[in-house]
Amino acid sequence: MASKLEENPETRAVAPSKPLSPEGWIFDIKRFAVHDGPGIRTTIFLKGCSLRCRWCHNPESINTQPELMLHAQRCIDCGACLTVCPTGAHHRTERGERMFNRDLCDVCGRCVESCYAEALLMVGRMVSVEDVMVVVREDAPFYERSGGGVTLSGGEPLVQGDFTKALLAQCQAEGFHTAIDTSGQVAWSIINQVLPYLDLVLYDIKHISPDQHQRYTGASNRLILSNLRRLCGCGVPVEIRMPIIPTVNDSQETITSTARFLKSLNNITVVRLLPYHRLAGSKYQSLGMENTMPDVASPSASHMRQIAQWMSQYGLKVIIPEMGSDS
Ligand code: SF4
Ligand code: SF4
Repeated sequence: MASKLEENPETRAVAPSKPLSPEGWIFDIKRFAVHDGPGIRTTIFLKGCSLRCRWCHNPESINTQPELMLHAQRCIDCGACLTVCPTGAHHRTERGERMFNRDLCDVCGRCVESCYAEALLMVGRMVSVEDVMVVVREDAPFYERSGGGVTLSGGEPLVQGDFTKALLAQCQAEGFHTAIDTSGQVAWSIINQVLPYLDLVLYDIKHISPDQHQRYTGASNRLILSNLRRLCGCGVPVEIRMPIIPTVNDSQETITSTARFLKSLNNITVVRLLPYHRLAGSKYQSLGMENTMPDVASPSASHMRQIAQWMSQYGLKVIIPEMGSDS
């Protein structure tokens, strides 16, 4: 399948080749979302990311290109995919075992259509702003009652900055509350161009140490922290989101350094701490990707409360999810 995306050296990410294109690559639309900003929301997940976090729970978002997911446990070995695949990516060994060679796949999608067991799934589709707005308008009554709206997430929605801008502008023109969930690992000019269309920014902080950030996400946090400082001077409300990854960023030293930095900024409404979970493991398998963090357990409820307390000592409003008590 031909791609409209190309490498953008400025951000190490992938950006659309057509300026102001009204189309973009998405991999999901979540309706009735309640964790992506205020009220009931429609969250649009865009493909492409400018970081490579080892703990990523949306590995299907990383690649900007559409890709095939194979859920092997659902396969009933009917052989339909072998019949339709023009490249031989689906094949059998001499012993009759069904195999999939991802390197041969040109993502034509024929096998997905033939697979009644839904073991094959295409992740990523190109949509127009209007395609998305059709869904958004259907959900509008729920926004009105709950104070909700539309959130663009990913991946990194600003990797497709022009599509994100066009979509946010349309949402704003139709009176919907708008938010993005961003890692901030993009040029400031890209953030600046979407700012006029945003009511809220959900901003991810992964690690306060540049070296540790580089180690665990593939990039230093210098651009991220400098963009956050600039953003916080622009008047838009900013909600900080920090995944808590045991042994990576959950020490008292790391948490208090993060809190000290955040305390120095304006317009931060809340710091939301998100406990790491291992639910994405099977997605890595389905995508043929290496799971780079298979052995890290989720933080306990008591540890999350401790981290929240370390942070709130700096005067920050900190939220952790309801986790019950440690067993
Ligand atoms: S998407 Fe097309 S090329 Fe890829 S495995 Fe399926 S049929 Fe073969
Ligand atoms: S079409 Fe689907 S169920 Fe049938 S062999 Fe291929 S992957 Fe398995």
